Amino acid sequence: MKIYVQKYGGTSVGNPELIKKVAKKIVKRAKDGTGLVVVVSAMGDSTDRLIDLAHDITVNPPDREIDMLISTGEQVSISLLAMAIDSMKHPVVSLTGAQVGIKTNDIHKRAKILKVNSKRIIEELNNGKIVIVAGFQGITENNEITTLGRGGSDTTAVALAAALKAEKCEIYTDVDGVYTADPYIVPEAKKLDVISYDEMLEMASLGAKVLHPRSVELAKQYNVTLEVKSSFKECKGTIIKEVKSMEDVLRVSGITYDKKIAKVAIIGVPDKPGIAFKIFSDLADNNISVDMIIQSVMYENINDISFTVAQDDLNKTVSIIEKTAAELGARGVEYDKNVAKVSVVGAGINKTEVAKAMFQAMSDEGINIQMISTSEIKISCVINANDVEKAVKAIHSKFILNGIDIQHHSAI
Ligand code: ASP
Ligand code: MG
Repeated sequence: MKIYVQKYGGTSVGNPELIKKVAKKIVKRAKDGTGLVVVVSAMGDSTDRLIDLAHDITVNPPDREIDMLISTGEQVSISLLAMAIDSMKHPVVSLTGAQVGIKTNDIHKRAKILKVNSKRIIEELNNGKIVIVAGFQGITENNEITTLGRGGSDTTAVALAAALKAEKCEIYTDVDGVYTADPYIVPEAKKLDVISYDEMLEMASLGAKVLHPRSVELAKQYNVTLEVKSSFKECKGTIIKEVKSMEDVLRVSGITYDKKIAKVAIIGVPDKPGIAFKIFSDLADNNISVDMIIQSVMYENINDISFTVAQDDLNKTVSIIEKTAAELGARGVEYDKNVAKVSVVGAGINKTEVAKAMFQAMSDEGINIQMISTSEIKISCVINANDVEKAVKAIHSKFILNGIDIQHHSAI
């Protein structure tokens, strides 16, 4: 039997009407004897509402009890979806993470999946049933309920697809695929037919918000083909898989941005061994993840070191760094929240050509670039947050103008 795993996000099962619509779609698909395993998220924003409830009770709810509470959101949606399918006279069963045997470690609120037992699902599929599985949740060795971190249903779906050796893992959502840029900013942005895991990872963690980054990592590790597509529009989505291309093909997959960053600079630190180590170990010891790092040489024996962090971590970062700066005898600490990162992502991008077009687009618009970093598949610039939309638009049209291919992937 060919098995497909499907995942429907919270907005796709947000109310009874939508649940019935999804049920119809699933039953239609199962008619030809395809084995269907369907992972669902909690309805709409119900996870947020459960978390609010917990905070109405106490400011400091224990992590174990939070998991006990928020895992119920998915139990509501799986049972309702199963009822809808049952009412259409198709055999169906809903299962919690524990019933399936999705084993996780014991880190509450951000547990990692250790093992998936496929026995029960296979039995149910062999009995002709559609199997509905609660996303986002698992169970520890000691039978404690855990959750996988916000947005974790994607990860459940990929883990099941890997364990069941499914043909494909289809992620149904409220967008119809992955675009070359945010279509709200760039109306002429194109939907990508195919994108590689690594590119998608960059896009996912840079703010393309379509897939949970961990699910893409897992898909890459187990070679699970993913497809992101619309829950209700009938059209092809974007396939995420290993893509090999000719080395000389200039390929850019998309332009993404992240407004939730902040820039921090330590001004006037001595230029001697051990300084960067001291700064970044103080941050690492406090679990602050740092993204771009730039050291600029001011004049003899004095440097500035700047870096970016998540906006949520800014206050904590500044209080740590002010102490570090004092210890190092630096001149001071400056920070700026009103910055954003714009990135161009593409496997095998020819850096000079792409970089030239990217920088030229920003120069034409009079946008000042504050920081630049590059990797094998990405060029990122930190700019003023107010310039983000202008920058994304300008880069997109400059690429088209310069004949840089930002949509076609010649997979061979
Ligand atoms: N319901 C969970 C959340 O809102 C998991 C998910 O949606 O993937 O984070
Ligand atoms: Mg959700």
